[in-house]
Amino acid sequence: MKSPESVLKDTFGFDAFRPGQSDVISALVEGQSVLAVMPTGAGKSLCYQVPALLFERPTIVISPLVALMDNQVAGLRMNGVKVSALHSGQSREDNIAEWQAVTHGGTKLLYMSPERLMTGRMLSAMKSLNPAMFVVDEAHCVSKWGPAFRPEYADLQRLKDLFPNARMAAFTATADELTQKDIADKLFSGNGRTIVQGFDRPNLSLAVSPLRNRREQLMEFMKTAQGQSGIVYCLSRKNTEKYADVLKAAGYKALPYHAGLPPETRFENQERFMAEDGVVMVATIAFGMGIDKPDIRFVYHMNIPGSLEAFYQEIGRAGRDGNPAVTALLYGLDDIRMRRQFISDDGSDSEHQMREHKRLDALLGYCEASGCRRALLLSYFGEPAEPCGNCDNCMSPPDMIDATLPAKALFAAISETGQRFGTTHVIAVTRGEATDRVVQFSHDNLAAFGGGKEFGKPYLQALIRQAFGAGIISMDISRYGALTLEQGALDILAGQAVFECKDIAVGRTEKTARQARKAIAETALNADEKDLLSRLKSLRMEFARELGKPAFVVFSDATLMDMVAKVPSNKAEMLDVSGVGETKYERYGEAFLNVIGEA
Ligand code: ADP
Ligand code: MG
Ligand code: ZN
Repeated sequence: MKSPESVLKDTFGFDAFRPGQSDVISALVEGQSVLAVMPTGAGKSLCYQVPALLFERPTIVISPLVALMDNQVAGLRMNGVKVSALHSGQSREDNIAEWQAVTHGGTKLLYMSPERLMTGRMLSAMKSLNPAMFVVDEAHCVSKWGPAFRPEYADLQRLKDLFPNARMAAFTATADELTQKDIADKLFSGNGRTIVQGFDRPNLSLAVSPLRNRREQLMEFMKTAQGQSGIVYCLSRKNTEKYADVLKAAGYKALPYHAGLPPETRFENQERFMAEDGVVMVATIAFGMGIDKPDIRFVYHMNIPGSLEAFYQEIGRAGRDGNPAVTALLYGLDDIRMRRQFISDDGSDSEHQMREHKRLDALLGYCEASGCRRALLLSYFGEPAEPCGNCDNCMSPPDMIDATLPAKALFAAISETGQRFGTTHVIAVTRGEATDRVVQFSHDNLAAFGGGKEFGKPYLQALIRQAFGAGIISMDISRYGALTLEQGALDILAGQAVFECKDIAVGRTEKTARQARKAIAETALNADEKDLLSRLKSLRMEFARELGKPAFVVFSDATLMDMVAKVPSNKAEMLDVSGVGETKYERYGEAFLNVIGEA
């Protein structure tokens, strides 16, 4: 029998397994069932594809989306793997031919949807096929506890009794402990291993910027990401269209995506994003599930997401190929108020609302963190971590200042107005502005009126955000976002505590942009290398067009970058490039060697 390492090298062209992959593979090869919880981009597919190639009998892969199946199948065929798929996007004749390849053609992997597999006819056909392994991708759909339960997935729990000789391999990127146990119970009665691989994605840089002006900040960021493909997430459908237009006008290949667009448009925009280089998708969170593109170079959040869980999933779509990718988040007070409003409007019971408010608090803590953002994120997911060196706070630690004085002025305004007013009014009172409302409530007569008149509005807004982040003030949504004081703020007001916070640098250049420039510059190439890379990309595009498949099915960005770095001049050197295996060499090796040779 071949070794997993030789399959990895010969078929996939990779030199080494990534962390976690070997454990899963050896358990499966030994015949154990496995539930693997690994972050997006960790390389879950290889964890079952390598064992499947080692087994005599076929492996059945259960996958929820036709588009995902198609790309996987195309990618595997490109590597010379015998693979088949049955799904509704193919004609009956195609499906029959695919099935014949399974019964007579030595197919190693067969992809299909759960509904198709769990019919009586298919199951009895399976009996004679006697599969070596069933693979359940997106396995969290099996569990009612998970975030995306699907009834047709629950039915998969019958497999373990129907096929006692087959191992089960289940994969997911999101499952807390309760969900993990439930999946393991349902799929293999707990008789197998659960392998949890860390959540860390060290290649993603992390940065947060206080909101100043969405459009300007976006444009500033985009200058650092020219020609890169990425996602800009917006909260509203309207804004996806607005900012897609803004970017288009500035010369970017930007497309909108939201659930309100006609299905054809959504499909077309998604296809272009997948297939072409350098497309920017300006999208709501409707865009995400099933986006399997390995070379997304940035994720930019125009608004804060609903929770750290959601945030981590969304940024997780960047940099799946392991190369540096940039993430940045804009964070404004209005968003916080809106998110709080969403929670209290959704009509759920008060315990649920409390939990959601706590989740949002955790996200605000992330936004206002003065220490390493990654360490904070990972500790939220239960994983201890050291400062990372790849977030804005690590790269330029914020200066801390004593802001007791302005904080006292602000808290006094909150207190004296009865903790019944929102940000705008509180700031007006603090700054001594006699607005209509201030006069209407006679707040110009308060001792706190003008107590902080030397501080600008943006300064006070920043101070309020930090006080939120520190948990010493809160926002009461049942009273339209009224600011209220917690014990910590009362102590400061009473002169019993000081308020230390990050230096508030209103008007200073953005850290996000500087940071992004730095991260991308690290991968920057000289002029010759850039030229070679773009010629390699156009060759890849030609092949991809011929195939009618996304470019990364031919070679990933990481592989092209490695060609630029290694400049192979013969077959042996080409096989040394990461991502070039025997079959791909046969197909494309010489064409790419020729382009490299022309340099
Ligand atoms: P997941 O399903 O966990 O999100 P994928 O299976 O789609 O991740 O893999 C993400 C990317 O990582 C793919 O481009 C894949 O080719 C690449 N990859 C996986 N394992 C390795 C490895 N051992 N060495 C190099 N690249 C790898
Ligand atoms: Mg996957
Ligand atoms: Zn850090």
